[in-house]
Amino acid sequence: MSTVPTIDLNNGTAIPQLGFGVYQVPPKDTKEATLTALEVGYRHIDTAEMYGNEKGVGEAVRESGLDRGDVFVTSKLNNGFHAHDDALTAFDGTLEALGFDYVDLFLIHWPLPGIEVDFVETWRALEEIYRDGRARAIGVSNFQANHLRRLIQETEVVPAVNQIEVHPYLTNDDVRAVNAEHGVATEAWSPIAQGLVLDDPVVTGIANAHERTPAQVVLRWHVQRGDIVFPKSVTRSRVEENFALFDFELSDSDMGLITALDKDHRTGPDPDTFNWIP
Ligand code: NDP
Repeated sequence: MSTVPTIDLNNGTAIPQLGFGVYQVPPKDTKEATLTALEVGYRHIDTAEMYGNEKGVGEAVRESGLDRGDVFVTSKLNNGFHAHDDALTAFDGTLEALGFDYVDLFLIHWPLPGIEVDFVETWRALEEIYRDGRARAIGVSNFQANHLRRLIQETEVVPAVNQIEVHPYLTNDDVRAVNAEHGVATEAWSPIAQGLVLDDPVVTGIANAHERTPAQVVLRWHVQRGDIVFPKSVTRSRVEENFALFDFELSDSDMGLITALDKDHRTGPDPDTFNWIP
């Protein structure tokens, strides 16, 4: 089994650089899918209240027989709960659904810059959760450079991570650079762009040269850029394939060719205009 490196977040908490994402895993299948990932060797699971499947993640961690402390679990505050007290209540709901007394990482899922409640207010609730020891680290997701800068200027705890869309068609290097400047780790969501980048001839060419799959090459590109990734799959062979990233290396030239595929193509919403509340 290949060994997954850990990254030290800015508060000293160690996070496995490779995890398993459960967005769009149906709630009824989430326990099985997560158990498969844990069997394969993943020790980091990325869920969210919005995905409706926190319960299955918690059940899988308990049924796996692993110690709770051996699995890093992230969840996220749903849109619609940004007001201070709502955020605290929603966090209680997350712990209850997971069946845990703490999460490893808790994020504001979207900045929602157009809604009445300022995300600075939301962050103060997360700071309380963090100080109470109910989240080992706190962070944000989908924050653009200006959102992140303002949050850091106006509050005390610097986010441990910023989870943003990153893949070869959206390298998002501007936001990654601002994250790095402030000691905020970048987590790359939709790391294979939900499959979109896997047929790209540059990717397939590099995959053939290394006798690896396109998904492995793209995930390895993320790893060598230093980002944290958590590809999603409900297919066991792919869960295994996506885990086998640490016994080969891309050259500087391979890395450059993949980075050059950037075309600023978002597969998800634009955080500057996304203000959707379920
Ligand atoms: P991914 O880029 O991980 O792609 C998942 C898709 O690719 C699925 O359709 C899966 O199919 C397929 N796939 C997975 N592995 C392979 C492979 N080796 N070869 C071919 N196809 C493959 O997309 P996600 O959007 O799920 O992103 C990953 C995680 O990022 C999410 O699960 C979630 O945790 C997080 N995320 C966070 C967001 C945020 O706003 N913070 C937004 C979106 C995602 P199948 O399952 O059928 O095998």
